[in-house]
Amino acid sequence: MRRGFRRGMRRAFAAEVPPILQQASQLMGAGDYDSAAAAYEQLAQAAEGRNGPRAPIFFIHAGRARFLAGQSAQGMAHLKHGLDLFAARGQWGELHRAGQRAAQELNARGFEAEAREVESYLAASLPSAFTPPAVQAPARRPLLPTHCPFCGGTVRPDEVEWLDEVTAECSYCGSPVRGGD
Ligand SMILES: [Zn+2]
Repeated sequence: MRRGFRRGMRRAFAAEVPPILQQASQLMGAGDYDSAAAAYEQLAQAAEGRNGPRAPIFFIHAGRARFLAGQSAQGMAHLKHGLDLFAARGQWGELHRAGQRAAQELNARGFEAEAREVESYLAASLPSAFTPPAVQAPARRPLLPTHCPFCGGTVRPDEVEWLDEVTAECSYCGSPVRGGD
């Protein structure tokens, strides 16, 4: 029963993934960061316009693509806007995780000043009572596909959000991705 339900959900969800999101993931994968950024910007603005749940993620992706395209000022503007949206919605866990991830990646790419700026932003934005969730002990996880079957985005098992023991959420399009079947 549960399995059949999940499969049904999956199909329903796949139909909702806009083609432009698939394009954006594929452009990122192909290294065409300029075009990927433009696609994510379009998605981000549309999502923000309808107060959609994925607006912050799309801005963060747009920012990442702009950094990778060598346009760091625009990248930083998008990144901060995405983080601002998480903060405005009180999504502190998401804000912390996305901000930390961005700071790590910026550091790794040599954008040390920008990484420090993100860290200061987090320190100033997160409520003083916020404590980051403990890092999960490595559990026995199923193997996930290397790419999201819905949008083609790269699935990184160490970065995805796990929805349950066998299902992870694609960080590009939010679709449930399962391993093992
Ligand atoms: Zn996806």
